[in-house]
Amino acid sequence: MLPMLNFKIYRWALAFVCTIFFVTTVLAQESAPKRIVQPLDFQQVKIEDGFWSPKMKVWTTKTVYDVFDKLEGKYDPDRPDIAAEKAKLGRTRNAFLNFDLVAQGKKNIGTHDGPPWYDGLVYETIRGAADLLAEHPDPALEKKIDDYIDRITAAQNADPDGYINTYTTLTCPTRRWGTNGGDDKWQHDIYNSGMLIEAGVHYYRATGKTKLLNVAVKMSDYIYTQIGPAPKSNVIPGHGGPEEDMLKLYQLFKEQPALKTKMTVPVKEDEYLAMAKFWIDERGNYGEKDGTHARKSDGSYNQDQMPVVEQKTIEGHAVRATLLATGVTATAMETQDVAYANTVNNYWNNMVGKRMFITGGEGAIADGERFGDDYFLPESAYLETCASIGSAFFSERMNEMEADGKYMDEFERIIYNNLLSGISLNGDQYFYENPLVGNGNKRWSWHDCPCCPPMILKMVGALPRYIYGSDGNDVYVNLFIGSEADLKIKDEDVLIKQTTGYPWKGNIKLEVDPHGDKAFAIKVRIPGWAEKKENPFDLYQSDVSGVPVLKLNGKIAAVTQQNGYAIINHKWKKGDVIELSLPMTPRLVSANESVQTIKNKFAIAAGPIIYAFETVDNPDLKKYTLNPNTSLTVTYKPELLKGVNIVTGQISDQSGKQVSFTAVPFYTLGNRQPGSPYEVWVQKGN
Ligand SMILES: [Zn+2]
Repeated sequence: MLPMLNFKIYRWALAFVCTIFFVTTVLAQESAPKRIVQPLDFQQVKIEDGFWSPKMKVWTTKTVYDVFDKLEGKYDPDRPDIAAEKAKLGRTRNAFLNFDLVAQGKKNIGTHDGPPWYDGLVYETIRGAADLLAEHPDPALEKKIDDYIDRITAAQNADPDGYINTYTTLTCPTRRWGTNGGDDKWQHDIYNSGMLIEAGVHYYRATGKTKLLNVAVKMSDYIYTQIGPAPKSNVIPGHGGPEEDMLKLYQLFKEQPALKTKMTVPVKEDEYLAMAKFWIDERGNYGEKDGTHARKSDGSYNQDQMPVVEQKTIEGHAVRATLLATGVTATAMETQDVAYANTVNNYWNNMVGKRMFITGGEGAIADGERFGDDYFLPESAYLETCASIGSAFFSERMNEMEADGKYMDEFERIIYNNLLSGISLNGDQYFYENPLVGNGNKRWSWHDCPCCPPMILKMVGALPRYIYGSDGNDVYVNLFIGSEADLKIKDEDVLIKQTTGYPWKGNIKLEVDPHGDKAFAIKVRIPGWAEKKENPFDLYQSDVSGVPVLKLNGKIAAVTQQNGYAIINHKWKKGDVIELSLPMTPRLVSANESVQTIKNKFAIAAGPIIYAFETVDNPDLKKYTLNPNTSLTVTYKPELLKGVNIVTGQISDQSGKQVSFTAVPFYTLGNRQPGSPYEVWVQKGN
C-alpha cells in the first residue's frame, strides 16, 4: 500500500523564489561545483511528439543530407556573393576537395575552397548527424559519413605529424596555430581541431566506430606537443569551443578506459584535460611572463581582454563567447573549480539579465558579431542563429551544474524561437540573422559563411538528451516534449512516458512506471513565465492569467518548489500519473525601462512561443498600436505553417480605428512570403 499523500497546498510567493535564488548564488561562490543533473544517453529516450516529431523527420530525412550536399558544392547559388564566386571558380565550392588536395600532398597552393573554418563545418555536421543517427538509424547516411571520414583520414595521413587543417596547409603551411605571423582567429586551426574532436567522440558514441576518433586523438596528441607552457607555443583557440571538446575527449577515455585498446594511436587523456585548462587559464594572460611566452591579445572580441576568472560580463563575438562559456562550465564541473563556476555565473547573469533578446537571440551588433552593452537591445539587432544556440548549450551546462529551472527556461526560449527561425519549415533554407524587425531578409539556400546549418543540426541532434535529467536519486523533467524515457534511479529502472500538446496546449501528462515500488523525487520544471516571472532578472516582465496546476493521480498536488522545479516526493508504483497544466493564455511582454528602444512597446507570447506580426496578415504593420486591455484569442490552425497557434485581436490603426490583427509564431516568419516585413514589438496604445 502507498502511504497517504501529504502534499500541502503551497502557493509560491515571489519572495520565496527570490530567497532561493539568493541562496543559490551564494552557494555557487563558496562550494565546489559539480555535475548535479546528468542528461540522458540517446539510448534512454525516444521522442514521440506532435510538435517535434514531424520536424525531426524533416531534419533527419532532408536537412542533414541537404547540408552535406551543399558542403560538397551541390547547390544553386541564391545569393550574389555565392553566385559571383561560382562565376569566378567556374564551379561551386566544395569542402571535401580541400581534404582531397591535402591527401594528394598539395601544400601552399594559394587556394582553398570556402572560409578557413570549412573543415570545422564538415566536422560539426558529422557531429550533428551522429547524434541524429543515434536516435534515427539510417544506413545510407552512415555510409555517406564513413566515406567522408575516409577522405578526412587520408588528408591527415599525408602529414607526418598528424596535423590537419586544410586552409593552413593549402595557403600558409608555416603558420600553424597562427604562429609565425599568422592569426588563429582567421585560420581556425584550433577551432577546427575542436570540431574534429567532438565529431570523433559523437560518431564513436553513435556507431561504435573509431576511425574518426583516431584522427581526433592523433591531432590532439600533436597539439599537446606544440601548445602549452614554455617552451611550447602560448596559443589559445582563436574561436571558443575547443575547450569543451578537449574535455569531452578526456571524459570519453576516463569513462571507457578499455576503448584505448581499440585505438591505433596512443591515448593520453590527462593531456586533453590539461589542454582544456591551459586554453581557459591562458586567456587574458598574454603578457610576457618568462621572457619568451608573450603573445598578442585577441582583445574582448575573442574573450582575451583579461583572465577568464576575472571576467564579470560576457563580451565580444557572441558565438565565441557562448561556446567558451559552455566549455568553462563543463570544466568547472569536471575540476570542481570555484573560480570557473563564479565566472560562468557572471557570464550567464549578465547575458540573461541585460543582453538577451525576447526570442533568446544573442549578439546585438553586426560589426564583430558581438554582444552589445547592457540593455542595448535594438529591434534591428544581428542575432546570429549560432549565437543563440551557443547560449542554449551554455544554459544547459549551467543547469547540469546548478539544477535550477531558470537555465532550462532560457534554453526553452531559444529552441522554440531563435533556433527554429534559423531553418525553414521545409528544412533546406536558413537564416544567419534573426532580428526582431524584418524588411526583406530572406532565408538562403547556402551562404558565404554557412556556419548556422551545422549548428542547428548539433542542437536538434542533442535535444532528446536534455528532456530529462537525473542525479541518480531523482528525476528532473526539464522540457515538455512527448517522449518515453528509461532512467536508472537508485539502481532501479524507471520508465516515464510523457504526452503533451505543448507548445500549443499546456497539458502535460507523465506516466511513471518503476520496476518495483520506489521512493524518490520527480522534479518538474515550472517555467518562469507561468508564474509571472518572464525573466529571472526582470529584463522582461509579463502577467499571465492562471497558475500552474499539478496533480498526482488526479488530486491537486501543490508542492514545494525549489530552484524552478516543483518537487514531488512519492513512493512511485506502476500507474502513477502526474498531470501539469500550464497557463497558456497569451500574455503581453514588456521590457525593463532601461531598454531605451522598446520602452513603450509590447510583444505577445503564449507559452514558450513568441509571436510576431507579419505583413502577410497585417498589411499596415508600422501604423499599429496595441491597447494593453485588448482581448487576445488563440486559435490552432492545422493547415497554416504546418500547424500553429495564431493570436488574433483588435489593434488601433493610425486614425484610431480598431482593426483585426493576426500574429504568428516568430519562428514561422518568412515561410509564406520570403522577405515579407514583420515586427515583434508593437507600440503600446492607451
Ligand atoms: Zn552561424
